[in-house]
Amino acid sequence: MAIERTLSIIKPDATRRNLTGRINARFEEAGLRIIAQKRVWLTLGQAQTFYGVHRARPFFAELTAFMASAPVVVQVLEGEGAIAKNRDVMGATNPANAAPGTIRKDFALSVGENSVHGSDGPETAADEIAFFFSGLELVG
Ligand code: GDP
Repeated sequence: MAIERTLSIIKPDATRRNLTGRINARFEEAGLRIIAQKRVWLTLGQAQTFYGVHRARPFFAELTAFMASAPVVVQVLEGEGAIAKNRDVMGATNPANAAPGTIRKDFALSVGENSVHGSDGPETAADEIAFFFSGLELVG
Protein backbone atom coordinates (compact mmCIF):
# COMPACT_ATOMS: atom_id res chain seq x y z
CA MET A 1 0.00 0.00 0.00
CA ALA A 2 1.18 3.51 -0.76
CA ILE A 3 2.53 5.98 1.77
CA GLU A 4 -0.11 8.69 2.21
CA ARG A 5 -0.57 11.89 4.16
CA THR A 6 -3.79 12.93 5.84
CA LEU A 7 -4.97 15.98 7.78
CA SER A 8 -5.96 15.40 11.38
CA ILE A 9 -7.48 17.85 13.86
CA ILE A 10 -7.68 17.34 17.60
CA LYS A 11 -10.91 19.22 18.31
CA PRO A 12 -11.78 21.70 21.10
CA ASP A 13 -13.49 19.15 23.35
CA ALA A 14 -10.21 17.22 23.47
CA THR A 15 -7.80 20.16 23.83
CA ARG A 16 -9.97 21.47 26.69
CA ARG A 17 -9.63 18.15 28.50
CA ASN A 18 -5.83 18.05 27.93
CA LEU A 19 -6.03 14.92 25.75
CA THR A 20 -3.55 15.89 23.00
CA GLY A 21 -0.80 13.54 24.14
CA ARG A 22 -3.10 10.59 24.72
CA ILE A 23 -4.67 11.00 21.29
CA ASN A 24 -1.27 11.41 19.62
CA ALA A 25 -0.17 8.15 21.25
CA ARG A 26 -3.06 6.38 19.48
CA PHE A 27 -1.79 7.60 16.11
CA GLU A 28 1.79 6.58 16.81
CA GLU A 29 0.78 3.17 18.17
CA ALA A 30 -1.08 2.59 14.87
CA GLY A 31 2.06 3.33 12.85
CA LEU A 32 1.11 6.85 11.80
CA ARG A 33 3.88 9.45 12.00
CA ILE A 34 2.99 13.03 13.07
CA ILE A 35 5.12 14.84 10.49
CA ALA A 36 3.69 18.32 11.14
CA GLN A 37 1.70 19.74 14.02
CA LYS A 38 0.59 23.10 15.42
CA ARG A 39 -1.94 24.46 17.89
CA VAL A 40 -4.19 27.17 16.49
CA TRP A 41 -7.41 28.92 17.48
CA LEU A 42 -9.66 29.11 14.43
CA THR A 43 -11.84 32.13 13.77
CA LEU A 44 -15.47 31.40 12.99
CA GLY A 45 -14.78 32.38 9.38
CA GLN A 46 -11.90 29.92 9.11
CA ALA A 47 -14.04 27.13 10.57
CA GLN A 48 -16.82 27.96 8.10
CA THR A 49 -14.38 27.83 5.18
CA PHE A 50 -12.81 24.58 6.33
CA TYR A 51 -16.21 22.88 6.74
CA GLY A 52 -17.74 24.55 3.66
CA VAL A 53 -18.82 21.18 2.24
CA HIS A 54 -21.28 20.91 5.18
CA ARG A 55 -22.74 24.42 4.68
CA ALA A 56 -26.25 23.13 3.95
CA ARG A 57 -26.34 20.65 6.84
CA PRO A 58 -28.54 21.45 9.86
CA PHE A 59 -25.59 21.14 12.24
CA PHE A 60 -23.31 23.58 10.33
CA ALA A 61 -23.71 26.52 12.74
CA GLU A 62 -23.22 24.30 15.78
CA LEU A 63 -20.20 22.57 14.22
CA THR A 64 -18.41 25.74 13.19
CA ALA A 65 -19.09 27.57 16.47
CA PHE A 66 -17.72 24.54 18.33
CA MET A 67 -14.58 24.39 16.17
CA ALA A 68 -13.92 28.08 16.92
CA SER A 69 -14.64 27.76 20.66
CA ALA A 70 -11.15 26.80 21.84
CA PRO A 71 -7.74 25.89 20.39
CA VAL A 72 -7.36 22.90 18.10
CA VAL A 73 -4.25 20.92 17.16
CA VAL A 74 -3.85 20.50 13.41
CA GLN A 75 -1.48 17.85 12.21
CA VAL A 76 -0.34 15.89 9.20
CA LEU A 77 -0.18 12.12 9.69
CA GLU A 78 1.90 10.00 7.34
CA GLY A 79 2.03 6.27 6.82
CA GLU A 80 0.92 3.33 4.70
CA GLY A 81 -2.71 3.87 3.78
CA ALA A 82 -2.76 6.76 6.26
CA ILE A 83 -6.15 8.12 5.21
CA ALA A 84 -8.13 4.93 5.87
CA LYS A 85 -5.92 3.93 8.79
CA ASN A 86 -6.59 7.23 10.54
CA ARG A 87 -10.35 6.82 9.97
CA ASP A 88 -10.09 3.38 11.61
CA VAL A 89 -8.18 4.76 14.58
CA MET A 90 -10.72 7.60 14.93
CA GLY A 91 -13.82 5.40 14.88
CA ALA A 92 -17.36 6.21 13.74
CA THR A 93 -18.56 9.83 13.71
CA ASN A 94 -21.03 9.15 16.54
CA PRO A 95 -19.14 7.73 19.53
CA ALA A 96 -22.20 5.64 20.36
CA ASN A 97 -21.47 3.68 17.16
CA ALA A 98 -17.67 3.67 17.42
CA ALA A 99 -15.78 0.40 17.83
CA PRO A 100 -14.02 -0.40 21.10
CA GLY A 101 -10.48 0.95 21.29
CA THR A 102 -11.07 3.82 18.86
CA ILE A 103 -10.37 7.44 19.82
CA ARG A 104 -14.01 8.45 19.54
CA LYS A 105 -15.22 5.49 21.59
CA ASP A 106 -12.75 6.25 24.34
CA PHE A 107 -12.71 10.07 24.35
CA ALA A 108 -15.58 11.67 22.36
CA LEU A 109 -18.45 13.36 24.20
CA SER A 110 -21.11 13.34 21.46
CA VAL A 111 -21.59 13.23 17.68
CA GLY A 112 -20.71 16.94 17.54
CA GLU A 113 -17.95 17.01 20.17
CA ASN A 114 -16.18 13.96 18.79
CA SER A 115 -12.54 14.82 19.57
CA VAL A 116 -10.93 14.35 16.14
CA HIS A 117 -11.26 15.13 12.45
CA GLY A 118 -9.61 13.13 9.68
CA SER A 119 -9.62 13.63 5.91
CA ASP A 120 -11.96 11.24 4.08
CA GLY A 121 -10.08 10.77 0.78
CA PRO A 122 -6.91 11.64 -1.15
CA GLU A 123 -8.23 14.86 -2.73
CA THR A 124 -9.72 16.06 0.53
CA ALA A 125 -6.47 15.26 2.32
CA ALA A 126 -4.41 17.32 -0.15
CA ASP A 127 -6.82 20.28 0.09
CA GLU A 128 -7.07 20.12 3.89
CA ILE A 129 -3.29 19.84 4.37
CA ALA A 130 -2.79 22.88 2.11
CA PHE A 131 -5.44 24.79 4.12
CA PHE A 132 -3.26 24.63 7.25
CA PHE A 133 0.35 23.97 6.19
CA SER A 134 2.82 25.36 3.68
CA GLY A 135 5.19 23.06 1.82
CA LEU A 136 8.03 24.39 3.99
CA GLU A 137 6.33 23.00 7.09
CA LEU A 138 6.14 19.46 5.67
CA VAL A 139 9.61 18.07 6.22
CA GLY A 140 8.63 14.42 6.64
P1 GDP B 1 -16.55 12.63 10.06
O1 GDP B 1 -15.90 12.57 8.70
O2 GDP B 1 -16.58 11.31 10.78
O3 GDP B 1 -15.94 13.73 10.93
O4 GDP B 1 -18.09 13.00 9.85
P2 GDP B 1 -18.86 13.99 8.83
O5 GDP B 1 -17.96 14.42 7.71
O6 GDP B 1 -20.15 13.33 8.49
O7 GDP B 1 -19.23 15.25 9.73
C1 GDP B 1 -18.25 16.22 10.03
C2 GDP B 1 -18.39 16.63 11.46
O8 GDP B 1 -19.65 17.27 11.63
C3 GDP B 1 -18.42 15.48 12.47
O9 GDP B 1 -17.14 15.03 12.84
C4 GDP B 1 -19.14 16.13 13.64
O10 GDP B 1 -18.25 16.91 14.43
C5 GDP B 1 -20.13 17.03 12.94
N1 GDP B 1 -21.45 16.38 12.87
C6 GDP B 1 -21.85 15.38 12.05
N2 GDP B 1 -23.14 15.04 12.30
C7 GDP B 1 -23.54 15.87 13.30
C8 GDP B 1 -24.77 16.02 14.00
O11 GDP B 1 -25.76 15.32 13.76
N3 GDP B 1 -24.80 17.00 14.95
C9 GDP B 1 -23.71 17.82 15.24
N4 GDP B 1 -23.80 18.75 16.19
N5 GDP B 1 -22.55 17.67 14.60
C10 GDP B 1 -22.47 16.71 13.65
